[in-house]
Amino acid sequence: MTSQSSISLHLDTAQPDLPATPMIEVSHLWKAFYDRRDGNIVVAIEDVSFSIPRGQFVCICGPSGCGKSTLIRILAGLEDKSAGKVGLAARVGGRPPAMVFQESSLFPWRTVAENVGYPLELEGVSRAERRARVQPMLEMTKLADFANSYPHQLSGGMKQRASVARALIDDSSEILLMDEPFGALDEQTRMDLQQELLRIWEQSGKTVIFITHSVEEALTLGDRVIVMSARPGRIAADIAVPFGRPRNVLSMRRDPRFGELTFRIWTLLKGTPVEASTDEVQAPAPPPTTAAQANESRTVNIVAPADGEATVDSLAALKAAVRPSLWSRSLEYLGIFSPLVVLVLWEILGRADLIDPSFFPSPSMIAGTFWSELVSGELVRDALATVSRVAVGYVMGAIPALVLALALGLWRTPRLLVLPIFSALYTVPKIAIYPLLLLLFGIGEAPKYVLVAVATFFLVFFSTLTGVIQIPRIYLDVAQNLKTSTLQLFRTIALPAALPGVFNGMRLALGTTFVLLAAVEFVGAKSGLGYSIWSAWQTFAVEKMYVGIVSISAIGYLSVMLVQWIEWRMVPWLRH
Ligand code: ADP
Ligand code: MG
Repeated sequence: MTSQSSISLHLDTAQPDLPATPMIEVSHLWKAFYDRRDGNIVVAIEDVSFSIPRGQFVCICGPSGCGKSTLIRILAGLEDKSAGKVGLAARVGGRPPAMVFQESSLFPWRTVAENVGYPLELEGVSRAERRARVQPMLEMTKLADFANSYPHQLSGGMKQRASVARALIDDSSEILLMDEPFGALDEQTRMDLQQELLRIWEQSGKTVIFITHSVEEALTLGDRVIVMSARPGRIAADIAVPFGRPRNVLSMRRDPRFGELTFRIWTLLKGTPVEASTDEVQAPAPPPTTAAQANESRTVNIVAPADGEATVDSLAALKAAVRPSLWSRSLEYLGIFSPLVVLVLWEILGRADLIDPSFFPSPSMIAGTFWSELVSGELVRDALATVSRVAVGYVMGAIPALVLALALGLWRTPRLLVLPIFSALYTVPKIAIYPLLLLLFGIGEAPKYVLVAVATFFLVFFSTLTGVIQIPRIYLDVAQNLKTSTLQLFRTIALPAALPGVFNGMRLALGTTFVLLAAVEFVGAKSGLGYSIWSAWQTFAVEKMYVGIVSISAIGYLSVMLVQWIEWRMVPWLRH
């Protein structure tokens, strides 16, 4: 085993019979998160090193937010590390580590039995064998009666038990990573499952990393307890647990060393040195025998923090490594220019005489016409006419759609009554109602606004509605519990939750409105880009036609970008 300068492991003394091959080797691991919005960096893991031999049961204990989940996610290959080395022997031949996640990770669209049997399904295990293997797992986790229930029908603790069963069923991965798997269980179930876990582990020979905030649990299960300090997470201590195997999770609590170790780890977690503890706490501790004292000094090893200079050096290097390079940052904006590539290609093909300029005039020729129309003011007039029709109609359609979808999304009965009407109207081709609109609103701008509004309305309405209906129940429960008013419910929950749907509808609506408007301007207008394309066709002014087409495309593109930009600003909690 390679010895770290700041960490020395006392495994060999505590567990003399464990083989020395490291199964997991973590060396000078750093992890920092970069916030793209403000460029801030959060260091979650700072210079962590440890080595875990095959078959060892390691518990990691530490205050919340100290980087435990981050560490285990890096080991599972779910998160990138920022610096350092992570080596897993299991990766070479076997499957990646099985993982029990901290948050509920069952698929809501599968029953408990289907969730638990999922790893076997992926491996191609037959249905009959799956059933035979799932059943004992469900019995062990006391879920046999709920095999056919869906996750939303389970309590939090039951969901956690099902996740544990799903991780344990797959015996092909040699490493088992568990992120506070028993955190939400009652004491009794917890002890039963601890005992079961130990039994399975002793049979399987798996290497386990078990994260817990419970010191007692760490001592009950682990061969070793790694204690992490508050953020940024470092290893504060690496403690070999002196209890033998097999263990009885209940009776081992009578061992005086159990209390002593619990006390020591707690002092570490609280950040006060053992010597500085109060009399009050020390009083009930049993008088240590010389043997216990000797044992203690042999098994407890408090790691000194890394020296300041090295830390500052590596921290600076870390920040440089985590901040995305100029290239990768500019890559995000590069997409804006990709339409240019098409234009350049077009120009090249035109100049090489590979396409007929009388039908496909090259961009440079179009640019000439574009410029003269721009100077004459004709283009600006037409573009403004189209843009103002889209803008007015868009707002006219989107706002009522939004309000109605929020209301109907939240109230089921009116929704059931109104939705069939909307669904029937939605399928009517919008262009087909234009003559009717002309009758109703007369010739002029009004029917055009209304047409755009109608098209926008349905798209924004349906995608907002889907967003509201899909709001997870728990958020509505929070609202009810806090007694929000209807308006507050709209503003603070329904609207933000539906925003991704709203923007999706707005993007779809933009495309549709330009199509509709161009069609309408062909026949029923004396201005607008559609009109300009149509009149160019009548005089066979091909380049002018292209100017119209390109202008619509450019305006459409810019408006989609605008919607995108607004979405980035308004929905910062979603990953884009
Ligand atoms: P815990 O020890 O409670 O499991 P975590 O590993 O979840 O802690 O988090 C450690 C630190 O890293 C916290 O400060 C948290 O805010 C930060 N962090 C975790 N995940 C992310 C992420 N995806 N983006 C930014 N910061 C994160
Ligand atoms: Mg966590």
